[in-house]
Amino acid sequence: MPIYEYLCQSCHNRVSLFQTYAEYGVKPVKCPVCGGKQLSRLIGRVRVAKSDDQRLEAMSDPSALGGVDENDPKSVARAMKKMGREMGEDLPPEFNEITDRLESGESAESIEKSMPDLGSGEVGAGDDEI
Ligand SMILES: [Zn+2]
Repeated sequence: MPIYEYLCQSCHNRVSLFQTYAEYGVKPVKCPVCGGKQLSRLIGRVRVAKSDDQRLEAMSDPSALGGVDENDPKSVARAMKKMGREMGEDLPPEFNEITDRLESGESAESIEKSMPDLGSGEVGAGDDEI
Protein backbone atom coordinates (compact mmCIF):
# COMPACT_ATOMS: atom_id res chain seq x y z
CA MET A 1 0.00 0.00 0.00
CA PRO A 2 1.41 3.38 -0.93
CA ILE A 3 2.35 5.86 1.75
CA TYR A 4 1.84 9.53 1.15
CA GLU A 5 3.68 12.30 2.92
CA TYR A 6 1.86 15.37 4.13
CA LEU A 7 2.76 18.49 6.06
CA CYS A 8 0.17 19.43 8.66
CA GLN A 9 -0.63 23.13 8.53
CA SER A 10 -1.85 23.09 12.12
CA CYS A 11 0.96 21.39 14.01
CA HIS A 12 3.62 21.51 11.27
CA ASN A 13 4.40 17.86 11.67
CA ARG A 14 5.32 15.87 8.66
CA VAL A 15 3.08 12.84 8.61
CA SER A 16 2.96 9.66 6.57
CA LEU A 17 -0.47 8.36 5.72
CA PHE A 18 -1.40 5.05 4.20
CA GLN A 19 -3.86 5.40 1.37
CA THR A 20 -4.83 3.15 -1.41
CA TYR A 21 -4.57 4.52 -4.92
CA ALA A 22 -8.35 4.70 -4.99
CA GLU A 23 -8.45 6.73 -1.80
CA TYR A 24 -5.72 9.16 -2.72
CA GLY A 25 -7.12 12.55 -3.64
CA VAL A 26 -10.66 11.38 -2.87
CA LYS A 27 -10.77 10.44 0.76
CA PRO A 28 -10.18 13.37 3.13
CA VAL A 29 -6.99 13.08 5.09
CA LYS A 30 -6.58 13.90 8.73
CA CYS A 31 -3.44 14.64 10.69
CA PRO A 32 -2.75 11.69 13.03
CA VAL A 33 -0.95 14.01 15.43
CA CYS A 34 -3.44 16.84 16.03
CA GLY A 35 -6.45 15.77 14.01
CA GLY A 36 -6.14 18.79 11.74
CA LYS A 37 -7.48 18.56 8.24
CA GLN A 38 -5.25 21.13 6.60
CA LEU A 39 -2.68 18.83 5.13
CA SER A 40 -0.41 19.75 2.28
CA ARG A 41 0.83 16.94 0.14
CA LEU A 42 4.59 17.01 0.11
CA ILE A 43 5.85 17.02 -3.42
CA GLY A 44 7.98 14.05 -4.24
CA ARG A 45 9.41 11.68 -1.76
CA VAL A 46 11.54 12.40 1.20
CA ARG A 47 15.17 12.42 0.34
CA VAL A 48 16.05 9.31 2.31
CA ALA A 49 13.31 7.25 0.74
CA LYS A 50 14.34 8.38 -2.70
CA SER A 51 17.91 7.34 -2.22
CA ASP A 52 16.74 3.97 -0.94
CA ASP A 53 14.73 3.58 -4.10
CA GLN A 54 17.71 4.37 -6.20
CA ARG A 55 19.77 1.81 -4.32
CA LEU A 56 17.10 -0.81 -4.82
CA GLU A 57 16.96 0.01 -8.47
CA ALA A 58 20.70 -0.30 -8.71
CA MET A 59 20.56 -3.63 -6.91
CA SER A 60 17.81 -4.95 -9.12
CA ASP A 61 19.89 -4.14 -12.17
CA PRO A 62 22.56 -6.82 -12.26
CA SER A 63 24.52 -5.02 -14.94
CA ALA A 64 25.28 -2.32 -12.39
CA LEU A 65 26.99 -4.81 -10.16
CA GLY A 66 29.73 -5.80 -12.52
CA GLY A 67 31.07 -9.32 -12.66
CA VAL A 68 27.77 -10.79 -11.62
CA ASP A 69 26.17 -13.50 -13.64
CA GLU A 70 22.67 -12.18 -13.95
CA ASN A 71 21.43 -15.54 -15.06
CA ASP A 72 22.59 -17.01 -11.80
CA PRO A 73 20.31 -15.85 -8.98
CA LYS A 74 22.79 -17.09 -6.41
CA SER A 75 25.48 -14.90 -7.87
CA VAL A 76 23.11 -11.93 -7.78
CA ALA A 77 22.18 -12.72 -4.18
CA ARG A 78 25.83 -12.76 -3.16
CA ALA A 79 26.41 -9.39 -4.81
CA MET A 80 23.33 -7.92 -3.15
CA LYS A 81 24.44 -9.11 0.27
CA LYS A 82 27.86 -7.63 -0.33
CA MET A 83 26.27 -4.32 -1.27
CA GLY A 84 24.04 -4.53 1.78
CA ARG A 85 27.03 -4.92 4.03
CA GLU A 86 28.81 -2.05 2.34
CA MET A 87 25.85 0.23 2.82
CA GLY A 88 26.02 -0.48 6.52
CA GLU A 89 22.58 0.94 7.03
CA ASP A 90 19.20 -0.39 7.92
CA LEU A 91 18.10 -2.42 4.98
CA PRO A 92 14.54 -2.52 3.77
CA PRO A 93 12.65 -5.50 5.16
CA GLU A 94 12.37 -6.88 1.66
CA PHE A 95 16.10 -7.16 1.36
CA ASN A 96 16.64 -10.40 3.23
CA GLU A 97 13.62 -11.98 1.63
CA ILE A 98 14.87 -11.08 -1.81
CA THR A 99 18.36 -12.37 -1.26
CA ASP A 100 17.07 -15.55 0.39
CA ARG A 101 14.77 -16.24 -2.53
CA LEU A 102 17.51 -15.51 -5.02
CA GLU A 103 19.74 -17.95 -3.20
CA SER A 104 17.06 -20.58 -3.38
CA GLY A 105 17.21 -20.18 -7.13
CA GLU A 106 14.17 -18.03 -7.78
CA SER A 107 14.60 -15.51 -10.57
CA ALA A 108 14.69 -11.80 -9.78
CA GLU A 109 11.85 -11.27 -12.21
CA SER A 110 9.59 -13.72 -10.43
CA ILE A 111 10.42 -12.17 -7.05
CA GLU A 112 9.65 -8.68 -8.31
CA LYS A 113 6.30 -9.83 -9.62
CA SER A 114 5.38 -11.34 -6.29
CA MET A 115 6.35 -8.19 -4.40
CA PRO A 116 4.24 -5.36 -5.84
CA ASP A 117 5.38 -3.05 -3.05
CA LEU A 118 8.98 -3.37 -4.04
CA GLY A 119 10.34 0.04 -4.86
CA SER A 120 7.64 1.90 -2.99
CA GLY A 121 10.42 3.03 -0.75
CA GLU A 122 11.03 3.08 2.93
CA VAL A 123 8.94 6.13 3.60
CA GLY A 124 9.05 6.56 7.30
CA ALA A 125 12.69 5.74 7.67
CA GLY A 126 14.63 8.85 8.46
CA ASP A 127 11.57 10.89 9.28
CA ASP A 128 13.47 12.50 12.08
CA GLU A 129 15.70 14.12 9.55
CA ILE A 130 14.61 17.39 8.06
ZN1 LIG B 1 -1.29 18.16 12.85
